Amino acid sequence: MAVRQSPLEDLVAMPTSARVCDFLVIGAGIVGMSVARELALRQPGASVTVLEKEPTVGGHASGRNSGVIHAGFYYTADSLKARFTRDGNVALKAFCAARGLCINPCGKLVVARNEDELAVLELLLERADRNGVRLFRVTEAEAKAIEARVKTCGTALFSPDTASIDPLEVLGAMTDAAREAGVRVLTSTRYLGRENGGVRTSQGVHGARYVINAAGLYADKVARDFGFSKNHYLLPFKGLYLYADPSMPPLATNVYPVPNLANPFLGVHFTVTVDGRTKIGPTAIPCFWREQYGWFENFDAREFGEILLRELALFTGANFNFKGLAFEELRKQFRPHIVGLAGELASGIHPEQFRKWGRPGIRAQLVNAASHTLEMDFLIEHDNRSLHVLNAVSPAFTCSIPFAAHIVDTILSATR
Ligand SMILES: Cc1cc2nc3c(=O)[nH]c(=O)nc-3n(C[C@H](O)[C@H](O)[C@H](O)COP(=O)(O)OP(=O)(O)OC[C@H]3O[C@@H](n4cnc5c(N)ncnc54)[C@H](O)[C@@H]3O)c2cc1C
Repeated sequence: MAVRQSPLEDLVAMPTSARVCDFLVIGAGIVGMSVARELALRQPGASVTVLEKEPTVGGHASGRNSGVIHAGFYYTADSLKARFTRDGNVALKAFCAARGLCINPCGKLVVARNEDELAVLELLLERADRNGVRLFRVTEAEAKAIEARVKTCGTALFSPDTASIDPLEVLGAMTDAAREAGVRVLTSTRYLGRENGGVRTSQGVHGARYVINAAGLYADKVARDFGFSKNHYLLPFKGLYLYADPSMPPLATNVYPVPNLANPFLGVHFTVTVDGRTKIGPTAIPCFWREQYGWFENFDAREFGEILLRELALFTGANFNFKGLAFEELRKQFRPHIVGLAGELASGIHPEQFRKWGRPGIRAQLVNAASHTLEMDFLIEHDNRSLHVLNAVSPAFTCSIPFAAHIVDTILSATR
């Protein structure tokens, strides 16, 4: 058996009808699926099951993101994000190539809207250097040679390794790869709570020697059932996208502003999709319940009360300008405003060219309850029975393969 010191006493207490596996993963997003595949590959003979509450995979962040394979120059060298983005960029591209998936190697320009932002460009160059990532300083003329409409204050940065993929296609391929490695994926099966030696689900009890919680927007709730996430809670932030009309000539490359490095969001930018379309976004609008994709979609009164109280507390008690962030992000759902912000990055951008809102995605952003700050890096908590992925925010899609390898290393050393 793959995992030694198994909690046999608990398994003996399980109903005989319960299904038992070695590793039970909650959540079939890119993180859960990559971890399941990695476990099955590294522990041949072990049984790995993934539970997904939706009827198909990709219903949440992993199927609703920007589809950018990031390069890894935003993050400080000591972070998990820095290491996993650099390695994940290479690994995910190799995975896509091996599976014949589309990649648009369109690169990315980071532009400065004023002279004050030039210092941040220099800081990003330093971070790229420390992280071992290719990033080039280019003149305004060189930037315009890459994309003629781009606007910048004298200098810009060009990342040749940034690329675009179709996240749903990649998640579908990762699911196939996991199944080929022997993973069982059970859709329409919702985790409901912890049970002795396993979990209770909408389809009965599942015994498990080790539980991996990759439940995205619900990861903090699941973690609390296992005694984790005591100092953290998740807040949902909605990312809206606005698509360019087919009549507008598409941009040649992704164009991003200099980010505010104090928060984990990258600001309104242009993304080039895998099939070459241009979109603006995503926003980071605080939601009032976890899966609030539309105004009243998936309304949950309990979540509404809980999240409203947390957001109100952050209005006054946050160690960052939550109030300013919330109001600024809320304004971005007005088309002329968000198009106006994008227009600071490129010329000839008008609201009438951007009329179609795309499928929004919601970020599961972790908040530190003690310091009242947004956690910037990935966070996992674990013991020898369960592991909880608590802050799988952007760019966890890019990072999924090395992140999964790190999680599996952690599990195997905890259960040795
Ligand atoms: C708007 C937006 C843009 C982004 N852009 C990028 C980008 O360009 N590049 C990049 O690298 N990253 C990007 N990200 C980040 C990336 O999408 C996420 O970090 C990643 O998808 C997280 O994967 P996950 O598996 O943790 O979560 P998810 O994809 O949310 O998966 C969690 C799964 O758990 C399931 N689940 C939850 N509760 C239960 C339960 N009780 N029982 C059973 N199943 C359950 C859910 O249904 C869901 O399928 C973006 C994210 C957003 C929201």
